[in-house]
This record gives sequence, C-alpha cells and structure tokens, in this order.
Amino acid sequence: MRKSALVTGASRGIGQAVATVLAEEGWAVCINYLENRDAAEDLAGQLRCQGCAALALQADVADRRAVERMVRTAAEALGPVELLVNNAGISHQGLFQDMDDALWERMLAVNLTGPRNAVQAVLPHMLLQKRGTIVNISSIWGLRGGSCETAYACTKAALIALTRSLALELAPSGIRVNCVAPGCIETDMVRALGEETRAMLVEQTPLGRLGTPEDIAQAVAFLASERAAFITGQVLTADGGFIV
Ligand code: NAP
Repeated sequence: MRKSALVTGASRGIGQAVATVLAEEGWAVCINYLENRDAAEDLAGQLRCQGCAALALQADVADRRAVERMVRTAAEALGPVELLVNNAGISHQGLFQDMDDALWERMLAVNLTGPRNAVQAVLPHMLLQKRGTIVNISSIWGLRGGSCETAYACTKAALIALTRSLALELAPSGIRVNCVAPGCIETDMVRALGEETRAMLVEQTPLGRLGTPEDIAQAVAFLASERAAFITGQVLTADGGFIV
C-alpha cells in the first residue's frame, strides 16, 4: 500500500513539481489547489496514467474547515496523510507603509495560518501512528528579510519558527518536521516580477541561473524520505548560493 502525501498549492510551480517527484517515488499524492482546477485535474490525470495514485482537491488553506474536509477526503481516497508538504503561498511586492489591513491579513492567513490549519488537520493520525513527516516551504527572504516584501518575509520567517518548534514538540511522537528555503525559482511568482528583476536575480545567484521547481522538489523528496530519517528541525536552503 502506497503512503499518502498531501501537497498544498500543487496546481502549478513548485507544488506541481513536488507532487510529481513524490508520485514518482511511490507516494499516493493529494494535489491541493485554490483556483486552477483544470491544471490540478490534468496533473492528477497524468500521474494516474503513469501508474501513480493521485487526486486533485480544492481548498483554500486559509479556511480551517475546508482544510479539514480536504484531509478527510484525501484519507478516504488515498489513505491517511503521512507526509504533509506546506507549499501553498502568496507573495506581494510593495512599500511596507502602503500595505493595508486586508493584504497583511491575507498574507498571514495563507502563508502562516494555512500551514497551521493543515498541520492540525493531519496530526491526529500521525500522533496515533507515532509516524509522519512535515515539510514546510519557507524562503530565503524568511532567513534574511526582503525589501518591499516585509509581510511575505515575516510569514516565511514564522514558518521557520513553526518548523523548529514543531520539530521539538513532535520528535517524541516520531514525527519529523523540516523546512526548505528556496532561492529564486522559475515560477509564476518570480515571472510576475518582470524581466528586468528576473535578470537581476540571475545575476545575484552564484550558480548563474534561477532554480527550477524540480530543484526544490528534489530537496523536499529527500527530507520526506528515509534517507533523512535522523534529520528534523532543519532549514535546507536551495538557492544556488544566493545567501552564502
Ligand atoms: P506559484 O507559482 O504562485 O503557485 C502558487 C500555488 O499555491 C498554486 O498552486 C496556487 O493554487 C496555490 N495557492 C495559492 N493560494 C492558495 C490558497 N489560499 N489555498 C490553496 N492553494 C493556494 O508559487 P510558487 O513560486 O510555486 O511558490 C510555491 C511556494 O514556494 C510558496 O510558498 C512560495 O512562497 C515559496 N517560494 C517560492 C519562491 C520562488 O522563487 N518561486 C522562492 C521561495 C519560496 P492555484 O493555482 O489554484 O491558484
């Protein structure tokens, strides 16, 4: 029986690559999405054609009840979630002084309360089994701060604190919690910054290119695997040397 993984925000970008690599490594994957139903269903269909077990499920991670429903449905279809990848996230560029309440609250709701909702929904089974793995997707901006990305950086720094705190709290229950901090990755999130900024980011990356979603997926797959059985509470930075 395949073990079941839930990847939030897996309709595109990093989450899509994570779901794909995990499926190829033998996980049954639940592909969560917010709006891009067709992309999520297509991915699930492709993975099933390759002989993998996959299911697309809609939920806004900021909505606790919706997340609980999604985790129940995933468990019924694919088995209880044994690996949670908290990937869904939103970003915003702008002066801190211009950020209004709605934007600030939405950023916290998706990027921080979302992972809280998902962890609390999957934990009862993990605690019962004394087994489970959680991987949170933070960011290099959460490690070093980012001008005009204050709210985003705050949420990503908080995810690192969540990772380390939960790692300590859940270790006695056999549950590992780690974090990947991507650098600049070629997805819609970075494309939205425009070509000039993209070129600048390439220039600032010692390896001379943006990362691919697959680069991050491989880091997640490693932390999720038995190869990382003695690793918990860690932040694995995958950034082409950006913040060395
Ligand atoms: P992306 O291309 O913008 O994709 C975002 C994904 O999250 C989509 O699948 C989207 O679903 C989903 N999503 C957004 N809000 C959601 C919500 N409220 N509930 C459920 N799903 C939601 O982003 P990405 O670049 O792949 O980033 C993925 C993660 O990596 C994020 O946490 C981001 O902060 C982090 N990260 C990215 C970079 C980078 O350079 N790209 C760097 C560091 C960290 P729909 O398609 O259905 O809307």
